[in-house]
Amino acid sequence: MARYTASVCKLCRRVNEKLMLKGSRCLTPKCAVGRRKKVMGGRRRRVSDRGLQLFEKQKARYTYGLMERQFHQFFVRAEKQTGITGDNLKVLLARRLDNVIQSLGFADSRAQARQLVLHGHFRINGHKADIASMLVKEGDTIRWTESSTKNKYYKEVLEGIQAKSVPTWLTLNRETLEAQVISFPIANETGALFDAKAVVEYYSR
Ligand code: SF4
Repeated sequence: MARYTASVCKLCRRVNEKLMLKGSRCLTPKCAVGRRKKVMGGRRRRVSDRGLQLFEKQKARYTYGLMERQFHQFFVRAEKQTGITGDNLKVLLARRLDNVIQSLGFADSRAQARQLVLHGHFRINGHKADIASMLVKEGDTIRWTESSTKNKYYKEVLEGIQAKSVPTWLTLNRETLEAQVISFPIANETGALFDAKAVVEYYSR
């Protein structure tokens, strides 16, 4: 599956917003957008409605590390579901396995979470789960594989996990790093930073 491979900070600079694509580094003074906003005072050019809709769509796409085609597939799926399309989209994106792994505090960024998933470090309900775009379901149990629990990275996660908070729609055993999806999130629990209504308007033209 194609994916964006250049510097992710460039994506933040394109939309002039902190999309938090590098985890804890984004909270340091090294963040290029933080520095730029200070210099520019956060000014932004006047843009058309269409431009703003495109901007929000790109922001969402960059946040979840998706190419246009993949992102559009999520939109089409959200549109087919009952309820508000924008909310459905936020929930679908939140249910991606890479997003869940990051939300649980197992990875510092979605990109790192994706790597962990692709490298086969997790099982869902006892089955291999190495596809980052897999959607978790209510009741799913996520575990590290037996071999992964022996590696140095797992031990680092275990040590740092006490200080991390977990979204209310997930539970985490901080001793075993076993997690469960207790329910689907509601849209405003997903932490999504984009304006879903603008994304819907963008695709509705
Ligand atoms: Fe974006 Fe993080 Fe890079 Fe700042 S450090 S520009 S928030 S990815």
